[in-house]
Amino acid sequence: MEKEADVVVIGGGISGCAIAYNLAKRGSKVILLEKGEIASEASGRTGAIVRQQGRQPPEIPLMLASIRLWEHLDEELKTETDFVQGGNLYLAQTDEEMKVIEETVEEGHQLGLDNRILSPQEVSKIVPTIGAPFKAGMFSPRDGHTDSIKCTNAFANAAKEHGAKIYTRCHAVDIGVKGGRVDSVTTTLGEIKTPVVVNAAGVWADRVAKMVGVHMPVKIIRAWGAESQPYPPLYKAFVRAPRSGSRQTVSGNIRFMGGWKGRYNYDISLDIFEDLGIWLPRLIRFSTHVKLGFSWDVLRRDIRRLFGGQGKHLSTFPVNYEPAVNWKVVEARRRALTELMPSLKDVKTIKAWAGLIDITPDLLPVLGKVERPDGFIMVGGFSGHGYALGPITGKLISELILDGKPSISIDAFSISRFGKGKKVPMPPRYR
Ligand SMILES: Cc1cc2nc3c(=O)[nH]c(=O)nc-3n(C[C@H](O)[C@H](O)[C@H](O)COP(=O)(O)OP(=O)(O)OC[C@H]3O[C@@H](n4cnc5c(N)ncnc54)[C@H](O)[C@@H]3O)c2cc1C
Repeated sequence: MEKEADVVVIGGGISGCAIAYNLAKRGSKVILLEKGEIASEASGRTGAIVRQQGRQPPEIPLMLASIRLWEHLDEELKTETDFVQGGNLYLAQTDEEMKVIEETVEEGHQLGLDNRILSPQEVSKIVPTIGAPFKAGMFSPRDGHTDSIKCTNAFANAAKEHGAKIYTRCHAVDIGVKGGRVDSVTTTLGEIKTPVVVNAAGVWADRVAKMVGVHMPVKIIRAWGAESQPYPPLYKAFVRAPRSGSRQTVSGNIRFMGGWKGRYNYDISLDIFEDLGIWLPRLIRFSTHVKLGFSWDVLRRDIRRLFGGQGKHLSTFPVNYEPAVNWKVVEARRRALTELMPSLKDVKTIKAWAGLIDITPDLLPVLGKVERPDGFIMVGGFSGHGYALGPITGKLISELILDGKPSISIDAFSISRFGKGKKVPMPPRYR
């Protein structure tokens, strides 16, 4: 293994791979560590919806820039990432839902977003398979969806072509700090000397942050996705109704998931007591979106953490972790899809999977430097919508490292917003 690097990136998801690519392209000596395989966690299990609309205002400038990168990514990475720019469509079926989409369009326009309200007739031209009644659609034409495994690997391969070293099946187990600055990373393959460490460890980013004494207030929730048998081309948009979300892949399979009023699982963990003052009001506010549950996996992980140490122990970072799929919910969503699109009445579930999501108290990511130690950079807490931000995350974090300042401000995402005595705003709704 290489013994020195300008930058060590921990995590081989879309964020880590895009950062490694952007750094290597500009001549930096980068090492990326991935404990499993590239895209084996969230970035390989995501819905891979690339959407600008429905985001909170601070994310919109980043997403406007990310879309421009997605539009040319295949040329940039010299491969196909199956980016289908078919738009993003939210359906409103009640007056209350209508109000939500109207407010969202209004808010988006103020920030330069090109989305609009469409009548049912206009919607049926874009997605002819919708058969259920609805009041209107909110449509963002430049949004799309992609193949996340292809795309994350494309970033990793392009990074390697520019000289980055990528070690898979290699855990980062500790980070050395000297004189207030990051100095090294200890891995299962040896030690690497480096002045800069990027923590892009996905749902385990809080554990990696603990290695240098940084506290990141996140909770882990569980979501899922499922896929049908292939169909001839039916629609290009991602369609999200209150109880059903779906899109068609390039190979014709319908990928379906929960709707915009869907529920996520929170498997109770001992970390429920961490930052309870922040999380309890949120649990109450979003009670209709969260289903509390119990999982032996989480309990086992907690016990190992208790006895193995907070973060530095290998077992804190499981490999090949397959979160449980709730088949009852998958079946309910399959039925919801057939209710929305009755012509798909023969739709079968050929596979389903679950994935973990790291949520922050304001549902915004954590990006940028920490107060201490110098050289430690946080990239996480994407709260279930970080895949679409991947290309711009890669660009901005590389600029932060190489130029001292990113070309678009990421100040709103600083971890310092969760510092002692700071009041964290409640997000308006889960989006
Ligand atoms: C079911 C589901 C649906 C989603 N749908 C969407 C969507 O439609 N659109 C969207 O934009 N986002 C979506 N998301 C969220 C999105 O997938 C994530 O925000 C994004 O993939 C995060 O990428 P990442 O690279 O930051 O993290 P990850 O992809 O989780 O990568 C982190 C990597 O770090 C590695 N790692 C962790 N600890 C260590 C260590 N100590 N040493 C070495 N390696 C380590 C992990 O193995 C992992 O591979 C969804 C997520 C899920 C689970």
